[in-house]
Amino acid sequence: MTRLHVLGSGSKGNAFALEHEGVVLLLEAGFSLRELDRRLARAGLDPSQVAGVAITHEHGDHAAAATKVARRHAVPLCASFGTWQALARGGEPCEWLAIGSRGPVEVGPFRVEACPTSHDAAEPVALGVRLPDGTALGMATDLGRPTQAVRWFLRERHCLVLEANHDERLLRESNYPAVVQERIAGHGGHLSNEACAVLLEELHHPGLTTVVLAHLSQRCNAPNVAHGTVAPRLASLGFAGELVLANQEGDGTPIMVRGPAQQALFP
Ligand SMILES: [Zn+2]
Ligand SMILES: [Zn+2]
Repeated sequence: MTRLHVLGSGSKGNAFALEHEGVVLLLEAGFSLRELDRRLARAGLDPSQVAGVAITHEHGDHAAAATKVARRHAVPLCASFGTWQALARGGEPCEWLAIGSRGPVEVGPFRVEACPTSHDAAEPVALGVRLPDGTALGMATDLGRPTQAVRWFLRERHCLVLEANHDERLLRESNYPAVVQERIAGHGGHLSNEACAVLLEELHHPGLTTVVLAHLSQRCNAPNVAHGTVAPRLASLGFAGELVLANQEGDGTPIMVRGPAQQALFP
């Protein structure tokens, strides 16, 4: 059984726990160590279950506790070379597994892979995780633009965690200065609800069972707005899976991640 626990997602911090037969891979660690522990405990997970941490980039809302949690539990931190370098300047020394062009790395039952993205960080990546039963998860947040490489990387995943950061109208009407609005909407920024919907239209396939909308902006988005943009587009393609909105508190129920073995049972 594979479950995805949203420990929290939004501009104040991001962390997910992918649990496969009792072993946990942390995807992002964008909270303080104490807060991460609290959220793991609330999800019914013990820190001793954590086999590794994989992060997309060094920004605090994704990596605040990355080196600390890896060091404390003596587990590897999966990060690109640029991200690792950026964290190594001030972070706790810990084991590092390079993800990116060198190919996948193994962490317990998880095979972790990465693809470069455009975002204003040192060497940001989208993450992919494959499980022994063939289940494939893809995660892309802080995605300035979904490049051809990222779209290729995310194809044929059973579970997709994608950024639906802002509503384009709410961003324009927000009190963010114009330069900040441009940064958020630009190549180095974040994916809008509309861009997320377009990406999902392309990535949809019969094996897609779970879609999680993540990293929603508190100021320029709302769950009903993101859902209202994405859900009809997925429905028009015949998507009958689960569409979940990740929230900042991460207080939802765990998400069942269904892979090829369970696909036949899926309505
Ligand atoms: Zn970022
Ligand atoms: Zn972020």
